[in-house]
Amino acid sequence: MSPAKTMLPCWGIDLGGTKIEGAILDPSEPNKALYRLRLPTEATEGYDHILRQIERMIEQLEQISGLPRPARIGIGTPGVTVPRTGLLKNSNTLCLNGKAVGRDVSARLGCEAILANDANCCALAEATLGAGRGYPTIFGIILGTGVGGGIVVHGQVLSGPHGIAGEWGHNPLPGENTPCYCGHYGCIETVCSGPSLEKFYAAHSGIARSLPEIVSRASEGDASAIITLERLRSKFSEALGAVINILDPDAVVIGGGVGNIDLLYEESTRTAVLRHLFNPYLRTEFLRPTLGDSAGVFGAAMLSASSKP
Ligand SMILES: [Zn+2]
Repeated sequence: MSPAKTMLPCWGIDLGGTKIEGAILDPSEPNKALYRLRLPTEATEGYDHILRQIERMIEQLEQISGLPRPARIGIGTPGVTVPRTGLLKNSNTLCLNGKAVGRDVSARLGCEAILANDANCCALAEATLGAGRGYPTIFGIILGTGVGGGIVVHGQVLSGPHGIAGEWGHNPLPGENTPCYCGHYGCIETVCSGPSLEKFYAAHSGIARSLPEIVSRASEGDASAIITLERLRSKFSEALGAVINILDPDAVVIGGGVGNIDLLYEESTRTAVLRHLFNPYLRTEFLRPTLGDSAGVFGAAMLSASSKP
């Protein structure tokens, strides 16, 4: 990154299924948006409409900021752009799948659109502006309705030839065999996601409860809740230990609803992770995210400041 480039404001768009969020950051104070706007995605109107909404967002940002359109804009979205073809896949905004979103947005806006998976954007934001700032290698986890992740090394998101670097949620866990929507069995997501924990609790206790209720009942001594959370600790530790053996990150930032659970940051969880390490001690820090729902759009903006997205 050249010094001249770092002085330019960074523009980012978080393209969600229901809303498009846009932000302009000042690189000298990037954890505060200079400007931030929202528009509805209106995904049911189709792909061309989404492209128009993105263009509208950029025009509105130009108007309120008085800034000229930048040469590069970062865009975060669910799904993965296949590096070889430039086509998006695995997006839950279905009309984006199979489309050359990056190329089409670039052509429409007349500037370079740099696309990244939304989990990668969150990881990039937390690594460069949030909890992971100052750590060379970050594994940014989303542990919520789904389980995903992103890897950031020295401020750069790792993507990989398949665009799936950091997608640990669909690694199988030994001894687990619950079918996953991805076609495999026993994926981490089928064990550690919020809905999976709720299902486990319901099967064990015979009563359906939300994850926050389960967490609060565990502290009141509900045996099924305690078993559910201890199972999370054990399985999460096993899953994360495998990642640490491969990546050896300086810090892990644990986002998503399940990432709020205090138990994951307890010393006994670190001890459980250590059991799976090829090392006699564990130095990797386990951090709570600090940017909240700003991480997606801030990470998208930081993509435009990143030399190798
Ligand atoms: Zn899966």
